Amino acid sequence: MTAQYQDISRAKSAELFEQAKNYFPGGVNSPVRAFKSVYGTPLFIERGDKAHIWDADGNEFIDFCCSWGPLILGHNNEGIREAVAGQLDKGLSFGAPTRLENELADLILSNNTYIEKIRFVSSGTEAVMSAIRLARGYTKRDKIVKFEGCYHGHSDSLLVKAGSGLVTFGETSSAGVPKAFADETIVIALNDKAALEEVFRSFPDQIAAVIIEGIPANNGLLLQEQAYINFLREITRDNGSLLIFDEVITGFRLGFQGAAHYYGIRPDIITYGKIIGGGMPVGAYGASKEIMGNISPDGAVYQAGTLSGNPIAMTAGIATLKQLASPGFYEKQEETTRQFVQTLRAFIAENQYDVQIFTVGSIFWFAFTTQTSITRADEIDPQSMEKYKIMHRALLNQGIYFGPSGYEVGFISSAHTEEDLDITIQAIKNALSIVFE
Ligand SMILES: *Cc1c(COP(=O)(O)O)cnc(C)c1O
Repeated sequence: MTAQYQDISRAKSAELFEQAKNYFPGGVNSPVRAFKSVYGTPLFIERGDKAHIWDADGNEFIDFCCSWGPLILGHNNEGIREAVAGQLDKGLSFGAPTRLENELADLILSNNTYIEKIRFVSSGTEAVMSAIRLARGYTKRDKIVKFEGCYHGHSDSLLVKAGSGLVTFGETSSAGVPKAFADETIVIALNDKAALEEVFRSFPDQIAAVIIEGIPANNGLLLQEQAYINFLREITRDNGSLLIFDEVITGFRLGFQGAAHYYGIRPDIITYGKIIGGGMPVGAYGASKEIMGNISPDGAVYQAGTLSGNPIAMTAGIATLKQLASPGFYEKQEETTRQFVQTLRAFIAENQYDVQIFTVGSIFWFAFTTQTSITRADEIDPQSMEKYKIMHRALLNQGIYFGPSGYEVGFISSAHTEEDLDITIQAIKNALSIVFE
């Protein structure tokens, strides 16, 4: 008989959620926050410090959501806080160039051999939307190819899911996206060479770009084979299409050169977000000088932003990247994560639980399955999410905050201490014994 845990009190959070429902659709400003895929009402967070967060009821949690990825240095990082506080005295926004944009761009470009020029925007969605327009403007083609199981933000062209059949036009995955837009987006399964070959045969000289998440991490962690990524590079090049790596999660998470360096291949355009803003709203896209030369005011592809390159956001980004650039930062993150995962895998093996932990860098994902490899979205059994729900609840009740959906990955920050991780390991062991009792 396994110990059960009493549900934490969510009275204050529940009250705030009821109020929020009067203001916002579903009571939230971004859908997954509504806790629809897990038990209970969403927790309203009051503050965070290092790896810990506190909710409105005073419950304390060790946080593995980390604001969905940006907080690689944890909450309330001293370097970021002090830099931002210093900038606050000078002004919030000018709508004119600042030296801070140069500084952040230099930190990125001098540590990244995969792009030569960059443009800052205010979100990952905006970065990807702009990259798609750039690819279309540069190639003078309209169609794009995306993969089922990759998320690229909520712009019209990308809220599209696979239709029936091997190679068909996509279907909109949101009301309000015109069918004509979905018709320009072709959606295929990951890790399926034949499908992509068929796309290029069916639409010769029409594909502007193929876009993939550097390492798909928005629908579970779908680790791809090197050979498949090499194939993407070759087939796009052979057909005059661009390869876009959406590195909004993997950028600066797997090192300064992200997934491009991880695979050792050169995409044509790379998008960034999350970590480069240090918790402030920032996105970016970059490419060679030649391709970026097509962006206005140099070129004919228009893209602009009132708050682009915002001084506070740039300051938070600079303070973040400076810390990430310290020698051994990423090696330490990876080693910490490897040990965390290995300890849990040993426990899982001992107990013969049907759960896998997939991991890369400081990202991890629990998959309730016996499959030891998952490369495509359709290999995830939706039923397995019921087990995640049970685990999520058992973890919250022990003071551990995981993302409120089994399709979300977890992140380990540099602020997670050995003690935090030991406590978490014990809590996960308890939670798994409840899931599998
Ligand atoms: C989060 C994310 C986006 C969207 O970024 P927002 O800042 O939420 O608009 C796009 N692509 C990937 C890979 C992401 O993880």
